[in-house]
Amino acid sequence: MTDVGTPGPRILFLDQTGQLGGAEFALSDVAPLFPGSTVALFEDGPFRSLLQSRGVQVEVLADVGLGVSRESGAFDAVRSLPRLGALIRDIADRARTYDLVYANTQKALLVGAAAAGIARTPFIAHLHDILTDDHFSRTNRLVSARAANRASTVIANSDATRDAFVASGGDPDRVEVVYYGFDPAPVVSREDRAAMRTSLGVSGRFVVGCFSRTSPWKGQHVLAEALTSCPDEVVALFAGAPLFGEEAYERDLHELIGRLGLGRRVRFLGFRTDVHELMAACDVVVHTSTAPEPFGRVIVEAMLSGTPVIAPDDGGPGEILVNGESGVLIRADDPEGLAKAICSVRDDSDGAATMADRARSVACSRFSMARMEQSLVEIVRRARVGG
Ligand code: UDP
Repeated sequence: MTDVGTPGPRILFLDQTGQLGGAEFALSDVAPLFPGSTVALFEDGPFRSLLQSRGVQVEVLADVGLGVSRESGAFDAVRSLPRLGALIRDIADRARTYDLVYANTQKALLVGAAAAGIARTPFIAHLHDILTDDHFSRTNRLVSARAANRASTVIANSDATRDAFVASGGDPDRVEVVYYGFDPAPVVSREDRAAMRTSLGVSGRFVVGCFSRTSPWKGQHVLAEALTSCPDEVVALFAGAPLFGEEAYERDLHELIGRLGLGRRVRFLGFRTDVHELMAACDVVVHTSTAPEPFGRVIVEAMLSGTPVIAPDDGGPGEILVNGESGVLIRADDPEGLAKAICSVRDDSDGAATMADRARSVACSRFSMARMEQSLVEIVRRARVGG
């Protein structure tokens, strides 16, 4: 671990969810870099156990459902003011005993900016979401950008996230792009790969993997529609679950797959903890987001698994992949284009293998854990000295 001086900074990290989304996996890598820190969650869930398994102290702030969603307008925000006020006071009290407040999600940003201001504790905002109108109401974008402008540094997970922040009124001089870091997992042996395919009942098929929480904008339906334009031997695995109340979409997806007659060509695996092994067992991993993805951790994970990747040329994926070199970039929300890309990977297995090898070495150097750690330690150091 990098030497961050003695004593190390004690950080109060804030995150609104107990679920395991990309922002939470990122924080589970960041928090252990700063021993003595605490992650305060606005709700309980599996994220708490993940953090604790990594030696991170966690506190779940009691019953603080804020009732403000991504689509909320000014009226919803005003209605939730009393609860918001209590939460801000609670966090401000805690913040006085830490060197830094570090907001990891959008609601945490709003509350953290106010609490850090009251406590006069330095403040950092980490943007994992992209402030575009596909994802947030105008009010939310404006309020988020204003709150983040109170941070000493706003960390953006991609150029796309940075640009959307600035377009929403964010201060361009405050924002710094830091890509996520990843530890490359060991290469999965041929035998283990074959065993996984057998256990999933997909031996001898061309296997397309889609790894994402189940949500309309994550676009699992785009893959379902694409399958109808692929030969029958092409099958799909969906790993992931609806994390944020999007069960209705999951039901619609099952219904769509039934209607398209794809029941025998699709497997739903639910939320999995063996993503690396599953990705390695696929012939191609596809990313199907219909709106700009802020980063797209699964794309780098697929690169590291040595499996070819197809993703939309939009948002983070367009920065991570070079088309034809380290992956295949397609138009977002285009089932026909996706089907063609899947077939091109299937028909050129040697070319796809070469691309996947290249992608793995690119991912190892460009998205290393050491690189992320170095950048974050420096940002925290500057925040502490008021730089
Ligand atoms: N993931 C997982 N199990 C699953 C599906 C997804 O652990 O069944 C993980 C995936 O490996 C990735 C994260 O969830 O690390 C999703 O991050 P991403 O940036 O792709 O999307 P986000 O959730 O931030 O929108």
